[in-house]
Amino acid sequence: MLDADFFRRWMTATAASVEREADRLTALDSPIGDADHGSNLRRGFAAVTATLEKEAPDTPGGVLTLAGRQLISTVGGASGPLYGTLLRRTGKALGDASEVSEADFAAAFRTGIEAVTTLGGAAPGDKTMVDALLPAVDALGDGFAAARTAAEEGAVATTPLQARKGRASYLGERSIGHQDPGATSSALLVAALAEANGD
Ligand code: ADP
Ligand code: MG
Repeated sequence: MLDADFFRRWMTATAASVEREADRLTALDSPIGDADHGSNLRRGFAAVTATLEKEAPDTPGGVLTLAGRQLISTVGGASGPLYGTLLRRTGKALGDASEVSEADFAAAFRTGIEAVTTLGGAAPGDKTMVDALLPAVDALGDGFAAARTAAEEGAVATTPLQARKGRASYLGERSIGHQDPGATSSALLVAALAEANGD
């Protein structure tokens, strides 16, 4: 079973990984964006860990809804509302249980990803974070490590795609040949899940 501490570890591990990889995320956002993805997420997840420490929610749903709200209010770019919605809606779907199963989490995470597609309108293959998140949730039934591999492969597979959503879509065919920054950060988010689980 997964408790509030597990979800706190997930957010802390994500913040550390985003901090380490911020320059790479920003470099990916240079040719097909405005070079702010690393700084956006670094600021957002630093605020998430600070607020989790201060408010110390004691349920899985409480941790994720607070994290999501914090991202929405801290990150200005497209990715803030999208990641914020992902975590907030996942948290809402977990309700107020003090512990949840991996299957409960997988179902809630899918609800969160569906909220991202509703908000942003991205379909699979549009070269966005959805291209890492959907394969990850599809693989979650096989465990967190399988989800991590699926997210990483999904992120790499965005390279030959033409962007159809977000800033990168303004480039049309010139977006081809670059890995999507948001899919790359989503792979970090999913890898942090495996890390929180000790995988
Ligand atoms: P901005 O584009 O406002 O500068 P960021 O650079 O922080 O925001 O985030 C860019 C990432 O957000 C993209 O690489 C993409 O993965 C994701 N993204 C942008 N628009 C959408 C959308 N409509 N649906 C899903 N993901 C999106
Ligand atoms: Mg950007």
